Amino acid sequence: MPELPEIANLARQMTKELHGKRIGKIELTQPKCLNISAKRFRRIIGKTVKETKAHGKWLFTRLEPKDNLLLNLGMGGDLRYHKNRNTLPEKYQLRLTFRDTTELTASFSWFGYIHLASDEELPKHKMTSKLGISPLDEKFTVDRLSSILSGRRGNIKSFLLDQKNIAGIGNVYVQDTLFKARLHPLRKIQTITQPEIAALHQSMREALYQSIKLGGLRYERDLYGRHGRYGPEQFIVAYKESKPCPACGTVIVKARTGSTSSYLCPKCQQL
Ligand SMILES: [Zn+2]
Repeated sequence: MPELPEIANLARQMTKELHGKRIGKIELTQPKCLNISAKRFRRIIGKTVKETKAHGKWLFTRLEPKDNLLLNLGMGGDLRYHKNRNTLPEKYQLRLTFRDTTELTASFSWFGYIHLASDEELPKHKMTSKLGISPLDEKFTVDRLSSILSGRRGNIKSFLLDQKNIAGIGNVYVQDTLFKARLHPLRKIQTITQPEIAALHQSMREALYQSIKLGGLRYERDLYGRHGRYGPEQFIVAYKESKPCPACGTVIVKARTGSTSSYLCPKCQQL
């Protein structure tokens, strides 16, 4: 499942390739992932593509005049740019053909969304208007993290995974983020100290930026179909059960924590 680094890379690549292109044709094959009818989507024909931004697991592409294409690749999807028809996938839910004959396709197996929202509708768009701050946002400071955490109940891992609090961290990046901050996934938020919040803030951004630099996760693909290079060599405790902890040598365990699995060092991340 793509997380923020993969989405941020796609946004950058989409802006690079598509900015300034005019939409010539649109084909939509799955009504279930749309927020309006396929017929009403045709209003984007003739519009010009502007920049694409990432927020959480969503891609926001501005269309001139006054529209926004919102894409969410769900549990495993591919967004692909095509210079010619040879690279078109067999199945896709979205196919945009630009006036210069290049194309963009989105294909996903599960839970993807293709939405359209005008500038007026965008602030009220249900699935994105409640997203929390992006950890890559310059306003996401240690103080901001402290204030988001303040007065909150429950455990830190569920908090981080809830996209309404902070948007873009999923069950892959959260593992090493918690390890580096030496926090147990089930640690109660009220007991987390100020230095631990600062460590968490730093570890969160480190993992995300390192992955962006390496093109995202190895099992995800970018706009050109290339795999990322962030994989097992970069993981510290994530997916390393029964391996020794690099900090203390204790065996890393995989534990059920609420509705998700966690990888952790029982010595470095005590409850
Ligand atoms: Zn350890």
